[in-house]
Amino acid sequence: MESRLLGLFISSIEKEESLKKLRIIKQNLIHIHGLPKNLVNIEILKSKEYFGQYGTIKNVILSKKINSETRKEIYSVYITYENKIEAACAILCVDSLLICGKIIRAVFGTTRFCINFLENKKCRDSQKCKYLHKLSKIFI
Ligand SMILES: [Zn+2]
Repeated sequence: MESRLLGLFISSIEKEESLKKLRIIKQNLIHIHGLPKNLVNIEILKSKEYFGQYGTIKNVILSKKINSETRKEIYSVYITYENKIEAACAILCVDSLLICGKIIRAVFGTTRFCINFLENKKCRDSQKCKYLHKLSKIFI
């Protein structure tokens, strides 16, 4: 059986494999990359001086990675706003901004489909599961 996904005709098996790999923009989530170390603090980031000025923040997740070549720490943060307009405002205002000598990059965050959902199984905890359980938004 064929179905249409993102403008392409594909089989059911291909569709399931494609959906497992697919990353979907989450419009109320922003990802900020390249934060200076002195800003890597949830309370500072949520404050009105920083990301709190763009709207109501529902969640903040900090992330630290090590650059494999330079061995330097790279900090990033995921901020979930109450709505997509707040997230879009934050991205427009801070992307490419120079803060403490570092240029930060801001983009919409992405998510994936819940594996249980794609396999027609019941998700163990769909209230807490951070992945998607609906297809409607990506089908044309
Ligand atoms: Zn789930």
